[in-house]
Amino acid sequence: MTCDFHVLAAPGVRNLQPYQPGKPESELRREYGLSDIVKLASNENPLGPSPRAVTAIQSVLGDLARYPDGNGFELKTALSAKLGLSMAMLTLGNGSNDVLELIARAFLTAEHEAVFSEHAFAVYPLVTQAIGATARIAKAYSPNHAMPCGHDPAALLALVSERTRVVFIANPNNPTGTWLTTAELQGLLEAIPPAVIVVVDEAYFEYVEPETDCPNALRWLDRFPNLVVTRTFSKAYGLAGLRVGYAVSHPAIADLLNRVRQPFNVNSLALVAAAAALEDVSHLEQGRAVNRAGMRQVQDACRQWGLNWLPSAGNFLCVDMGRSGREVFVELLKRGVIVRPVDNYGLPQHLRISIGSAAENARLIEAMQDVLRG
Ligand SMILES: *Cc1c(COP(=O)(O)O)cnc(C)c1O
Repeated sequence: MTCDFHVLAAPGVRNLQPYQPGKPESELRREYGLSDIVKLASNENPLGPSPRAVTAIQSVLGDLARYPDGNGFELKTALSAKLGLSMAMLTLGNGSNDVLELIARAFLTAEHEAVFSEHAFAVYPLVTQAIGATARIAKAYSPNHAMPCGHDPAALLALVSERTRVVFIANPNNPTGTWLTTAELQGLLEAIPPAVIVVVDEAYFEYVEPETDCPNALRWLDRFPNLVVTRTFSKAYGLAGLRVGYAVSHPAIADLLNRVRQPFNVNSLALVAAAAALEDVSHLEQGRAVNRAGMRQVQDACRQWGLNWLPSAGNFLCVDMGRSGREVFVELLKRGVIVRPVDNYGLPQHLRISIGSAAENARLIEAMQDVLRG
């Protein structure tokens, strides 16, 4: 007889729902026998990584028998030069997801609480629960607010108590695309007690347009030592498959995060690719231009269909389908287009569409046109 392992599991793990990733292209190919598939489901960069990153990877292929540099010295040097801050403030992660987990492990216990918003990135509840800590979920702004479904700073603040150790803020947020303005985020940082870690997850920072009032939170690191800013190479840098991200924080926080970090959490290919990608400013700019044009292309189509979308500062659009988002998702799958239902985020009528290349967006628009007509 097998043992009841469920009972043996740590309390936080017992009721954990696994993260639901975007459907991989290979899976759709297997299930539906389709060949021409467009995946706009995981906010990946349609241009892929910088060619310099690929060359850098090729240059280290002969060294795969060696462990990576556990301190990530060269990548940290490059990041520290780029961001203009000390290496002691950096923590590297196997994706920024890893960094979010390090933060939970370093600061949360079963006695503590993490605060975040409704519709916020799904990894916050996951890392909180896995530790056995309690999640306190703030109501988001209403769908009629100027920032519909966005984080509400007053609601977040109202949940901060003696038991709060971490506040998670995604800016801009995934899957909504919404953001806290400079004044909102600064006000929140001023109001949250200094003994509460405030994580500002800037996974889409590189996509934020200059005219959008979505702040670069690094500017507040000197003023608020309890601030941790996380970023990633998975989105604008096009390196999602390699898994590399980082946190920027006060050195004392970085020291703690580095204590709970696996010694070799970032692999050697990711380390060199990320450092090379940082140098290729023009590739990043090209990706932003593709995203700008794609946003217009998809928004124009939505306008013609009479569909509303949430404001987005990222490389994706959360569109209100006015009916079950999951049903439309399935209809699009049959037509070889993968997008993301967001019912698990409390948005049953929305679909999150990643902005792709012009051709990929055109495929989406054509398939959607077909679904909406049907
Ligand atoms: C994609 C994403 C991340 C994590 O990406 P990694 O690939 O783990 O670096 C973190 N936060 C948000 C809001 C995201 O959308």
